[in-house]
Amino acid sequence: MIYLDNAATTKPCGECKKAVCEAMENYFGNASSLHKAGTASLTLISRARTAFLRGMSLGNAPLSGTVLFTSGATESNNTALLGLNLRRGKIITTAIEHPSQARVIDKLEKNGHEVLRLAPKDFDDFEGAVIDAVDENTSLVSCMAVNNETGFCIDTRRLYKGVKAKNSKTFVHIDAVQGFLKIPLDGDLISVSGHKIHATKGIGALYIKKGVTLLPLLMGGGQQNDLRSGTEPVELIAGFEAAINAYSYKRGLFDSLKALLLERLSEIPDIKINSDEKCLPNIVNFSVRGVRSEIMLHSLEEADICVSSGSACSKGKTSGVLSAFGVSDSDADCAIRVSMCAENTESEIALLCEKIASAAKKIRR
Ligand code: PMP
Repeated sequence: MIYLDNAATTKPCGECKKAVCEAMENYFGNASSLHKAGTASLTLISRARTAFLRGMSLGNAPLSGTVLFTSGATESNNTALLGLNLRRGKIITTAIEHPSQARVIDKLEKNGHEVLRLAPKDFDDFEGAVIDAVDENTSLVSCMAVNNETGFCIDTRRLYKGVKAKNSKTFVHIDAVQGFLKIPLDGDLISVSGHKIHATKGIGALYIKKGVTLLPLLMGGGQQNDLRSGTEPVELIAGFEAAINAYSYKRGLFDSLKALLLERLSEIPDIKINSDEKCLPNIVNFSVRGVRSEIMLHSLEEADICVSSGSACSKGKTSGVLSAFGVSDSDADCAIRVSMCAENTESEIALLCEKIASAAKKIRR
């Protein structure tokens, strides 16, 4: 199988699998227990927090604050946005957010918060536009670091600095699911997910900057400083830590794979590229005009190639996100997302393009 759907999920790496098995064997104690087995689990969790903080700053000065382990980024986004218990005021967000963020913002809007949603298609300098929109009434800026459908990437450190300079009381929440370990991050609250970086599903994290207070979403036994009740899944946390330590973003490899993909796609008639130079190179979105995404997807599946028709979360439906990038509805209907990991090769990309060319020829006839 040629797997090119790494923005939907990634295959757990060997280091992760090994760490999960080892933790099941040796770190099965409840981290809240006062005996030796409990303490061992607690120590493992605190070591994983350090690895996580290191991963977020990517070699820059580590961020100071706490880390909550969650079930994934959906929970992290919900915890961040609902836990802030925001005063009424303006929320600035974007029209390209993942539903796990967007639906919560919709709810806040229904509850009386004013919401401004900015679209990248309207601005050359998107971070600048978000910063410009901040005023004394802005309670929150919430946006993603890297878009899951196109790879569009923002500089969260510039955003954070710019927002705080305009209003130091404005909270900044970053959904960094597709950016974690790929770009340096900053924010008051940062959501990430394990299964996008070769850890398992069912584990994620929320970074909380020092000084930011949150109300818990989950109440119960008071684990994780009463911020997220529930027995910590030590095995999954061990796998997450191992995957973080093993991960290295191969920017050069992705640049060359993307260049090859674009070159081969340019040889096929009527292809429109939807991921520009502002996008990270591991995600490439394009439209094969005249061939609906679903049809192309199934045709590639017959050749044992897995790609996506958009985000897996929208189950093949066009999400509206592409239109915020200026992609027409008819092009969005024909969109294919190729998302790569470090194991993908030039020959896989070449074969993908061959199959797209032949499918397009056959279907367009
Ligand atoms: N945000 C983004 C940008 C995502 O890509 C995803 C996963 N598709 C999520 C949030 C949700 O993450 P999880 O699957 O861990 O709940």
